[in-house]
Amino acid sequence: MTMLKMVVCIKQVPMVSELPWDSRTGTLKREIAEGMMNPACKHALEAALRIKHEHGGHITVITMGPPMAAEVLYEALTLGADRGILLTDKKMAGADTLITSFTIARAIEKECPGFDLVICGSQTSDSETAQVGPQLAEELKIPSAAYIESLECRGKTIRMKRLSDDFLETLEMDLPGLVTITTRHFHPRYATLSGLEEAFQFSDITILSAEDLGLSPDCIGMKASPTRILDVFSVTAEKENYVMKGAVKKILEEVFEKFGDKISSAMGKDLKTHEHSD
Ligand SMILES: Cc1cc2nc3c(=O)[nH]c(=O)nc-3n(C[C@H](O)[C@H](O)[C@H](O)COP(=O)(O)OP(=O)(O)OC[C@H]3O[C@@H](n4cnc5c(N)ncnc54)[C@H](O)[C@@H]3O)c2cc1C
Repeated sequence: MTMLKMVVCIKQVPMVSELPWDSRTGTLKREIAEGMMNPACKHALEAALRIKHEHGGHITVITMGPPMAAEVLYEALTLGADRGILLTDKKMAGADTLITSFTIARAIEKECPGFDLVICGSQTSDSETAQVGPQLAEELKIPSAAYIESLECRGKTIRMKRLSDDFLETLEMDLPGLVTITTRHFHPRYATLSGLEEAFQFSDITILSAEDLGLSPDCIGMKASPTRILDVFSVTAEKENYVMKGAVKKILEEVFEKFGDKISSAMGKDLKTHEHSD
């Protein structure tokens, strides 16, 4: 039986009820928001825990964020992960997805040599770019598969299923590799009291700074990030109300006349001719 060395990437996100925004820098003020484990990361961790339960293995959870992000590592250790790594440094702050992937990749190479499988959530609930997983695979020079819904280990190969449009695809990947997990399957387990005790009594958490990783301040954080947030605004939905009276046939004719173009464009085909508009 092959025991996999797994790395699960976890991001701490602000509680949905609190999204304090710094309009000057275009970033979230995460120091004052209460944090939680990103929902998709919970499912990614659950995928790793099931592999460990079935085949054995070792799970390292890794997060990059402010010092309070250690909370999600303790949560993961409580649920059954073996080791936690916190990448935290003011110089890392403000990293975009490219530099986040770069920094996490360097940490994985240094701290988890010989890893088999990296598991990420498909996307976060605060930034939602879904870029970190695939970019991390590029940085580590390993294959990746995104939006995975089921995983089956066959030695150093994994077989996966994912829903793509209306098709259920079956994919196979030789390890080492990276997958990102959706929130549709791998429903997270609850913490147990013994897990909680173990996580706090025997916690194995390594805290690393840019210097520990041998990274120059010029290649990390906001300074190195090519993404620029030019503007942030709240979307306001505007609605117009029409009251139509009379016979149904007459109302429908009026609807087609007034909104036919909009309906056709939303449906992707002409309502009168039924011809597709691509
Ligand atoms: C000091 C400090 C301050 C930071 N402040 C902010 C901030 O204000 N706003 C912000 O959005 N980010 C912040 N970050 C984190 C980093 O910049 C973001 O994680 C990154 O931009 C991810 O983008 P995303 O949320 O769109 O990820 P997505 O690509 O949507 O995430 C997909 C998956 O990638 C993995 N992943 C993503 N980010 C991380 C991470 N940080 N650690 C581990 N795994 C991860 C997870 O598995 C996640 O499910 C900070 C980091 C540090 C060190």
